[in-house]
Amino acid sequence: MTYKKPDLSGRLALVTGASRGIGYFLAKEMAACGAHVIAVARTVGGLEELDDEIKAQGGEATLVPLDLTDMAGIDRIGGAIHERWGKLDIMVANAGILGVIAPLGHVEAKVFEKVMNINVTATWRLIRSVDPLLRASDAGRAIIMSSGAAHSARAFWGPYAASKAAVEAMARSWADETKNMPLRINAVNPGATRTAMRAQAMPGEDPDTLPHPSEVAAKILPLASPELTETGLIFDVKKNAFTRYQMPE
Ligand code: NDP
Repeated sequence: MTYKKPDLSGRLALVTGASRGIGYFLAKEMAACGAHVIAVARTVGGLEELDDEIKAQGGEATLVPLDLTDMAGIDRIGGAIHERWGKLDIMVANAGILGVIAPLGHVEAKVFEKVMNINVTATWRLIRSVDPLLRASDAGRAIIMSSGAAHSARAFWGPYAASKAAVEAMARSWADETKNMPLRINAVNPGATRTAMRAQAMPGEDPDTLPHPSEVAAKILPLASPELTETGLIFDVKKNAFTRYQMPE
């Protein structure tokens, strides 16, 4: 994709997992491009740091401290945005957890359920909460964070890989449901990035060998552009290209 910083002035963008890592820098970059950012995460300190940085660059944010296991809380987000703004232009479903790196037969039920709950169920619940608001935008954009794990045979990554395959499937279905509308929906494989999640997955790896989350966020940013035409695809950050995963009917 040819890189161009999008003009997001007057756009409203909701970013989950905005307290650190890729979500933090996506929120910051979107605000720098003119969007009003609604930043969701549990860690108030991380959200406040983001708010300070956004204000310092002349932007605006609304902070929503929320645990995404609170499904009723996710349902309320849509209503609250509707009341205040009447539409949503950009949704970034970025929050996620790794769970555990272990053979499938050794994974504890509560860990498996937590991974599915945060990565899959909360993402669906957020889609359901904001779908009418994104449809109400003249250029609604949804970005769903996936992973290369969704497509690779990677020993010990079972719960996480299954959760990412599930969100990609949802993104494709949702994109097909809305293909005749201005709404554009894509999944993203950010690739290995220097964050807390990656350090948990690969404790022996030198983080300095990995791209900083700000670099990765800058490459994802054009997916929020009102000019984007692609939908129902997976954007691979390392290749800087879209891929279509489609089996013949
Ligand atoms: P981090 O662990 O750095 O950040 C995860 C974010 O998710 C945090 O802001 C965290 O906020 C939020 N989050 C986690 N659990 C909850 C919860 N219960 N409620 C609300 N928010 C929650 O992860 P990354 O930045 O590395 O990952 C971002 C996305 O990119 C994820 O979906 C991940 O799967 C994907 N990805 C990352 C890769 C990498 O190499 N880093 C590679 C491939 C995909 P808080 O704790 O404050 O609630």
